[in-house]
Amino acid sequence: MSSIKIGSNEPEIPKKWYSILSDLPKPLPPPVDPAIKAPGPGIAPKVFAKTVLGQEFTKDRWITIPEEVRDVYRIWRPTPMIRAFRLEKALKTPAKIFYKYEGVNPPGSHKPNTAVPQAYYNMKEGVERLTTETGAGQWGSALVFGGMLFGLKSTVYMVRVSYDQKPYRKSLMQLWGGDVYPSPSQQTETGRKLLEEDANNPGSLGIAISEAVEDALVNDDANYTIGSVFNHVLLHQTVIGLEAQEQLKTAEEYPDIVVGCIGGGSSFSGLFWPFYYDRVSKKAPKNTRFIAVEPTACPSITKGTYTYDHGDTARLTPLFKMHTLGHEFIPPPIHAGGLRYHGKAPTLCLLAQEKEVETRAYNQIEVFDAARQFAQSETIVPAPEPAHAIKGAIDEAIRCRETGEEKTILFLLCGHGYFDMQAYNDFLSGVLLPYEYPEAKIRKAVNKLRQLYPWVEKLPF
Ligand SMILES: *Cc1c(COP(=O)(O)O)cnc(C)c1O
Repeated sequence: MSSIKIGSNEPEIPKKWYSILSDLPKPLPPPVDPAIKAPGPGIAPKVFAKTVLGQEFTKDRWITIPEEVRDVYRIWRPTPMIRAFRLEKALKTPAKIFYKYEGVNPPGSHKPNTAVPQAYYNMKEGVERLTTETGAGQWGSALVFGGMLFGLKSTVYMVRVSYDQKPYRKSLMQLWGGDVYPSPSQQTETGRKLLEEDANNPGSLGIAISEAVEDALVNDDANYTIGSVFNHVLLHQTVIGLEAQEQLKTAEEYPDIVVGCIGGGSSFSGLFWPFYYDRVSKKAPKNTRFIAVEPTACPSITKGTYTYDHGDTARLTPLFKMHTLGHEFIPPPIHAGGLRYHGKAPTLCLLAQEKEVETRAYNQIEVFDAARQFAQSETIVPAPEPAHAIKGAIDEAIRCRETGEEKTILFLLCGHGYFDMQAYNDFLSGVLLPYEYPEAKIRKAVNKLRQLYPWVEKLPF
């Protein structure tokens, strides 16, 4: 049998997003403003749309999705839920494997699920221009796409290595009318300073965030937008999990295991939060396991420290309690560009800390091997990021083969890999390295943090 699209009666696009904040096992540690050594949003009110900031701290469980946003979602939603029959067969597993495919919109990943509402709320509040950073280019292209649909200009700071490595992502953004600068750039104080120190600075997500935030801070016409980590972003992504639940219902299935890759944690949270809500509201028919997968080259949650750190390199953002590799982290040049952030979403870190979510890390060779197996069975070429989730799902399916358990596994294929062919080229020609980020560097970064903010240890959160 071939892979099929589940549910010929497509579900309706959800009318509300789900917010986890009031259902966490413990209150979420608040952002801390280092200037006052106490909770505070720092510069956030100066750079974010008001509605978005309200959603960031909301205790409401259900947030209405504006009709104008649902109208745009209709371009590609509902997204397919696919039973991976061919992959199951190739693995000789008794497990059932399902994947939700978020690569079917024009930018090609889950990111437009939040780019569109962020652009919409900014348009409503009279903002003319959006600024943001992008690593691999998926978020930048999603944001430009969202801005374009609501008549806003976009300025994107793109990590320099990606700008050079992935020129077609840049072209896509420019085609949709965005302005794209390699970061560090000459556009901002932060960028100019870094370029003076090292003209060949390869850039990092932390640096690009600093530039995009600075641009929005000093220019009145612009607001800043972010593609992951923040609560409101994860909230917007719950359309994925809510749709997935309806689709699995029509197939009379419920997952035993939910797997996703994590860069900042937004796509995986968008998938698993609604299933987590089933658990806390005692509606779940199974004790579902949630598994988050990251690269060994950027092991924030598996090896990082759970402490307060900045979201960016120039320390413009407040401090967030999260698993971190330190805000000065410069990632090794692995190909899963979307998974090279030093921190993770605070909600996800709390859930991992409380053992509600399992975590694991794989190196990029095993990940690309999994991507090849997936492409040869299910035929879609996955982005390198969700290839981590594929590897996680394959490992679970193989475990089922060994134990004979007929588990139902659901994973998120959060984007396609058709802009990532250079990565596949490198994989196929054998030049990829199974990189592991050294423990010594992690310890050094944490010691530096402790020196910088010794008072953080005494905070009551
Ligand atoms: C951005 C991105 C990621 C990582 O971000 P999350 O917030 O963890 O989802 C993963 N995969 C793809 C395809 C991306 O574009």
